[in-house]
Amino acid sequence: MFDVLIVGLGCAGYTAAIYSARYKLRTFLVGLEEGGMGNSAAEVGNWPGNIEIKGPDLMENFKKHALSFKDLVTYKIARVADVSRLPSKGFRLTLESGETVEGRTIIFATGSVKRKLGVPGEKEFSGKGVTYCATCDAFFYRGKTVAVLGGGDSAVEGAAIAAQVAKKVYLIHRRKEFRAEPYWVDRVKERNNIEFILERSVSEITGDTKVRALKLGQPYNGSETLAVDGVFIEIGSTPAVELPKKLGCALDDIGFLKVDAAQSASIPGVFGAGDLTSGSNHFAQFATAAGEAAVASNSVFNFLQTTKL
Ligand code: NAP
Repeated sequence: MFDVLIVGLGCAGYTAAIYSARYKLRTFLVGLEEGGMGNSAAEVGNWPGNIEIKGPDLMENFKKHALSFKDLVTYKIARVADVSRLPSKGFRLTLESGETVEGRTIIFATGSVKRKLGVPGEKEFSGKGVTYCATCDAFFYRGKTVAVLGGGDSAVEGAAIAAQVAKKVYLIHRRKEFRAEPYWVDRVKERNNIEFILERSVSEITGDTKVRALKLGQPYNGSETLAVDGVFIEIGSTPAVELPKKLGCALDDIGFLKVDAAQSASIPGVFGAGDLTSGSNHFAQFATAAGEAAVASNSVFNFLQTTKL
């Protein structure tokens, strides 16, 4: 029986493991995707202590730090298929292989899943020109014309990165104002190969064996069709709450795992940290995910000291 089961291998999961290990908790750290969403950040300029670092490098540092506690952290790359409460106290994870692991507490750090646009052609051309991570895939579009959809940090940062390799980048956003950090908005405005298409929606993605064009909901420069070689859909993400939901944890009114100031979920012994939670005013950042994870581990420590299991 572990003291704490941590699900998720992103910023929050690794941080929770570091703090849990320093509290001398026997820790089981599991997840499918090492680095999580942090890997898609091409340039991280707001992780204190590093003026600039690449997302995958930052995540590798987190992983190394978490795994440096060899005697305390058991690490597994696997999909968690199910979670349940034990008849007495504690929890059981069932991995895809059928293996089960039991722990006295759980920290969910499962992050979020990229949102789909839901238009004709999106599914059909997924992987054939439609992708959900501009910073990861821009490299494949050297000298090409691409569109980035969205108006948040992911889209605007994605457009800036794509513009370093693509011949032309259209940044298509449904409103006039961006919700992205002004730092990134200024970066894209500086580039002469980025064209803003504002107050427009995309109604269809068309092509043959791969993407060739987008159909706009409203004409732009007199045409409803825009020829592109690739489309990066960066319209946000939805919290990955499948496992805490299975356990019966409460969600907030917009579907995030409801946590209190101690990062406790509605079931005693269950905690959450990072992008899936209602914490930090839904502000999904490395710094907030790490902060929430530190609090969650501290809460696990306090919980285990005060609760008879
Ligand atoms: P986001 O902030 O939720 O922005 C999503 C954008 O997509 C919004 O501009 C939204 O439009 C638009 N959108 C949503 N649904 C749409 C639809 N169906 N059709 C067209 N447009 C749609 O998502 P994000 O940019 O992925 O960022 C998520 C979180 O990660 C944020 O907290 C962000 O700060 C963080 N992040 C940080 C960094 C960084 O610090 N370097 C990088 C990436 C992400 P509206 O504006 O009209 O709502």
